[in-house]
Amino acid sequence: MSSPPTFRVTAADGAARAGVLMTPHGEVLTPAFMPVGTKATVKSVDPQELRGLGADIVLGNSYHLHFRPGAELIAELGGLHRFMAWDGPILTDSGGFQVFSLEGFRKVDDGGVEFQSHVDGGRRKLTPERAIEIQATLGSDIAMAFDHVIPGGADEATARDALDRTLQWLARCKQRHEQLQTSEQTLWPIIQGGTLPALRTESLDRIMELGPWTGIAIGGLSVGEPKDKMYQTIDVLEARLPPTLPRYLMGVGFPADLVAAVERGIDLFDCVAPTRGGRNGSAFTPEGTLNIRNAAYRTDDGALDPSCDCETCTTYSRGYLRHLFVAGELLGLRLLSLHNVRYLIRLAAERRAAIQRGGDAFATWAEDWRRRYQHTGVA
Ligand SMILES: [Zn+2]
Repeated sequence: MSSPPTFRVTAADGAARAGVLMTPHGEVLTPAFMPVGTKATVKSVDPQELRGLGADIVLGNSYHLHFRPGAELIAELGGLHRFMAWDGPILTDSGGFQVFSLEGFRKVDDGGVEFQSHVDGGRRKLTPERAIEIQATLGSDIAMAFDHVIPGGADEATARDALDRTLQWLARCKQRHEQLQTSEQTLWPIIQGGTLPALRTESLDRIMELGPWTGIAIGGLSVGEPKDKMYQTIDVLEARLPPTLPRYLMGVGFPADLVAAVERGIDLFDCVAPTRGGRNGSAFTPEGTLNIRNAAYRTDDGALDPSCDCETCTTYSRGYLRHLFVAGELLGLRLLSLHNVRYLIRLAAERRAAIQRGGDAFATWAEDWRRRYQHTGVA
């Protein structure tokens, strides 16, 4: 029998940490970027390529998989790892974020959320218990609690209401998770509270009272609030978060945010930006984001990112990649997605190495990185 995730901090530099998260399907070296495989696939990147890019863990989305093809079908076909042919660790989101970001009909009460399915338009209900059952059926290594997500600019009354409900739901999630006795899967809670420091710390304190936990997530950030509010919120939490737990900042994955969050003690990230950007011709580079469709790259024989070791950058020219996008060729979006995922994984690995060197290595690395990124960065 495998054991549920455990975490060990192996080096620290200020608030920044390097660590190892151990799961039933292998280790994750942190800080780590987790590629998002919403529908049991990281768009246009296969599992073998993900390994080659250095991914230790991928995300699945229980909301999407529940509706299509259905968690029970995935269980029949051997569980999510077998189904998507990824034998490494998988973290599944609970569906809270999707349910609250859907357009159209939605009704929230203490029982759960009633909403309109994005697949067939039918009315559906998701409860904390159901969100846990779906994730247990999928068989992910880390399941997330079902939370009430609010928009970035929400007022205090809304944030308070969502915070209280998320905590009630957390107790129910935990109870259902224990009843199901999914010994190989662990459940992580999600801190809510908008950008109000008092609510965030209250959320954290009340979550810890419901513990013990093997990890903890910060939700409800990068949802439209100003950047400085996001960083302030992480700072407030960092001072109180138990150092022994891995910390996952949900949905944050642009390069500058990753660097700033690692400085503030965050260990895990996810974001659809690398593959979504890749499909739109947008590529991460150490100097900022570029759009390969730009006419300036038509005659450019250089690599997309000369400092990158991925297949895209070591094989093809910017001029060729631009041609693929202009001609609407599928290979173009795949090659940019591969590069963008590799870029964020390398960024995490570089930060990890700098933290492990100790002294001022991480601060110096972050300063150099920022100077270069902002110098000519366009996004
Ligand atoms: Zn590359």
